[in-house]
Amino acid sequence: MTKVVFVMIDGLRPDALDHASLPGLRSLLDRGAYSLRASSVMPSMTLPCHMSIFHSVPPSRHGILSNEYAPQVRPIRGLVEHLNSAGKQSAFFTNWEELRDLSRPSNLQMSWYANESYNLPMGDELVTDAALPYLSRGAFDFTFVYLGTVDTSGHAFGWMSAEYLQQAERVDKQLVRIIDALPADTAIICHADHGGHERTHGTEMPEDMTIPWVCAGAGIAAREITESVSLLDTAPTASALLGVPPWKEWEGRSVV
Ligand SMILES: [Zn+2]
Repeated sequence: MTKVVFVMIDGLRPDALDHASLPGLRSLLDRGAYSLRASSVMPSMTLPCHMSIFHSVPPSRHGILSNEYAPQVRPIRGLVEHLNSAGKQSAFFTNWEELRDLSRPSNLQMSWYANESYNLPMGDELVTDAALPYLSRGAFDFTFVYLGTVDTSGHAFGWMSAEYLQQAERVDKQLVRIIDALPADTAIICHADHGGHERTHGTEMPEDMTIPWVCAGAGIAAREITESVSLLDTAPTASALLGVPPWKEWEGRSVV
């Protein structure tokens, strides 16, 4: 049965592909359904973006408009709760603690966290080290692997700086390790949450709002997606790959 791993590379701009060697991401683009012009949401900040990824609604609906979490006023069922209600097991491997509120208690089978997203350059290798034993044996139906150091590098040195591109290459090596470890029946979704400019992000500028988005795996035809793709499409796509119909309130749509 198909399993899904979702690899987030925080703050990765699609044009990094033109300036850095990213063989892991390239291999997914070659064999998957992808867009290099997918859209983030406003504000283009990490927690609002991730709430939109996991709840398939814009920030105006889930209400998280900064990196500080507050309970939703009109709660929407998220991807993890939805999969749990369908008998599917999910796990998180992350290095940024604010992400702990992406799912409600009692819905995750496992959650690994260490405060390493600000640890340059090694922070994402530690997350990958932790996740690989589970990914390689297909331990969970849905696994979220959050890699935060490209964003950290953007804030420290500037988006598209030599240091930022070097960190993107280092994190792509972690993506390669993940791809190589996955059993054949695993689909992989990989994208960024937002881009960045100078040493920041959060605006409506194309540099902040445009992200790479790809989904690859058994049964997914290689193609460039010509329709619009956004963060809202990730939960419906992951759900569809696992054979679970999308939750009725989700506003995105599956690209497979
Ligand atoms: Zn950031």
